[in-house]
Amino acid sequence: MAEAQGSAPASRFVHNKLRAEALLAKLKADGIGHHIAGKRVASVSGRTFETTSPIDRSVLTEVARGDAADIDAAAMAAQKAFKSWKAMDPDKRRAILHKVADVIEAHQEDIALLECVDTGQAHRFMAKAAVRGAENFRFFADRATEARDGLNLPTRDHWNVTTRVPIGPVGVITPWNTPFMLSTWKIAPALAAGCTVVHKPAEWSPVTADLLPRLLLEAGVPEGVLNTVHGFGEDAGKALTEHRAIKAIGFVGESSTGSAIMAQGAPTLKRVHFELGGKNPVIVFDDADLDRALDAVIFMIYSLNGERCTSSSRLLVQESIAAEFSARVADRVKKLKVGHPLDPATEIGPLVHQRHYDKVCSYFDIARQDGATIAAGGRPFDGPGGGFYVEPTLVTGATNAMRVAQEEVFGPYLTVIPFRDETEAVAIANDVNYGLTGYVWTADMGRALRVADELDAGMIWLNSENVRHLPTPFGGMKASGIGRDGGDYSFDFYMETKNICLAKGSHAVPKLGA
Ligand code: NAD
Repeated sequence: MAEAQGSAPASRFVHNKLRAEALLAKLKADGIGHHIAGKRVASVSGRTFETTSPIDRSVLTEVARGDAADIDAAAMAAQKAFKSWKAMDPDKRRAILHKVADVIEAHQEDIALLECVDTGQAHRFMAKAAVRGAENFRFFADRATEARDGLNLPTRDHWNVTTRVPIGPVGVITPWNTPFMLSTWKIAPALAAGCTVVHKPAEWSPVTADLLPRLLLEAGVPEGVLNTVHGFGEDAGKALTEHRAIKAIGFVGESSTGSAIMAQGAPTLKRVHFELGGKNPVIVFDDADLDRALDAVIFMIYSLNGERCTSSSRLLVQESIAAEFSARVADRVKKLKVGHPLDPATEIGPLVHQRHYDKVCSYFDIARQDGATIAAGGRPFDGPGGGFYVEPTLVTGATNAMRVAQEEVFGPYLTVIPFRDETEAVAIANDVNYGLTGYVWTADMGRALRVADELDAGMIWLNSENVRHLPTPFGGMKASGIGRDGGDYSFDFYMETKNICLAKGSHAVPKLGA
C-alpha cells in the first residue's frame, strides 16, 4: 500500500517531465515572436534575446526583442481594433471571453508545465494558477454586459445620468512571478471593459505570454485586440508607457519601476494603475489558534517560492509565545520540500533567474551583518539540475530597523520580530514603506477589528491566509501601489466615467445681453 501511494506522484512527475520536454522541443524550434494584429512577427530590428531555464540554466529559446518600433506597430494595431471591439454588443464580448476561459481550461496542463519550467514555480501552485487564469476571464466576461452602467443623480430640473466608456487602447506590463495568472488578471477586465491591449510581459518569463494571444485568437478574439511585444523594460516597456495612442498603463512590478513609469508617462498624461511590492506583516497574538496560524504563516511566505507580492514576509509574534512559536516555524521550514518544479511533491522550486537568486542569497549575509540569527536555511540549495535553488530561510532575533525587516526579499525568506502588545504590533507593522497586505491572528475579535482599522494596508485578512474573492478590491497603499483591481474597481480604471445632464425644460436659462 505504501508503495502504491508513493508511486502515483512519481509517475505524475515522469509524465510532467515527458510532456514538458515535448513542449520545450517545440518552443526551442519555433522561438518566441511578438503577436501584433493577429500575426506572429519578428522584431523590426531583427534582434532577439535568450530565455533560460531556472532549473538547469540551459537556454530554453530565442525571444524577439522589441523596442519602440515594435511597440508602435502594436499600439497602432490596438488603436485600429479598438473601434469595433468597443462597439461590439457586450453580450457578444461576454460570449467570446467565456470562450477564452474554455480554451485556457482546455490547455491548462500545458500552461502549468510551461510556467513551471520558465519560472521555477512548483507545479502544485502553477496548476491552480492556470485554472485561475480561466476564472479571471469568466469572472470579467460576466461583467462585460454591465460595465457601462452608471448612476442617475436627478435634481429638480435635470436628470444626471452617468455612464462609462472604455478609455481606449491600454498597455499592460507584468512581472515574472506568476506571469500567466497575473496577465489574465489585468487583460481580462481591460477586454471586458471594451479596451484593446498591448501587453509587455517580463523578459524573464516570456513563455506563457507567447501562448496567451494564440489562445485568444483560437477563442475568436478579433485580431489586434490583444497584442504582445516581448523585450526589456528599459526599451519596449518604456516605449509603451510613452506611446501617445496608449491611454493607460496597468502595471504590476517593483515600486521603483512604478516611479519610473509615472515619470515616463507624464508627458502624455497616462492614467496609471500600480500593483507594486510588499513587506507584509502577519501578526500573531498569544491567544490565537496557533496551529492554524502556523499553517498560514508557512503558506503565506513559502508558497510560490516566496515570490509573491502578498507574502507575509514579516512575522510579528507576541513576546510571550515568540520563542516557542518561532521554534515551531523553524521546525516546519526545515521540512519544506525543495525540488524540481515539475515534481508534484515539490513545495519550493528554483528561483526565476541568476540575478534574482543572487539578490535573495545576498540577504543571507545581510541578516548576519544586521546582527539577526538564521534559525533555518540561509544557504543556496543543491537542487536537481543545479539551478537557482535556495534553502527556505527563517531569520529570528530581528528588529524592525534591520534591512531584513524593511526590504522586500521576494524569496522563501521570513523575518521574525517580537512585540509586546497591540500598540507595539501596529507600530511595527506600519513602520515600513510598503502597505499591501496584513494578516492578524487572535481569538479576540474586537482586537482583530481594531488592528485591521489601524494597519496601513490595502488588504487585511483576519484569522486567514490570503483567500481571494474576485469581486473584492485588490491593491496597496504607500509604496505598494495606486488603485484597486477586482470587480467593478477594475472598470473604474479601464473606463472613463461620463456624466450626461438632461434638462427637463423647466429651469431658467441665464440671459446675458438680453
Ligand atoms: P520589475 O518592476 O522589475 O518588472 C516588471 C515589468 O516592468 C517587466 O515586464 C519589466 O520589463 C518592466 N519594466 C522594467 N522597467 C521598466 C520601465 N522603465 N518602463 C516600463 N516597463 C518597465 O518587477 P519584477 O522583478 O518583474 O517583479 C517583482 C516585483 O513585482 C516585486 O516587487 C513584487 O512585489 C511585485 N509584484 C506585485 C504584485 C501586486 O499585485 N502588488 C504582484 C506581483 C508582483
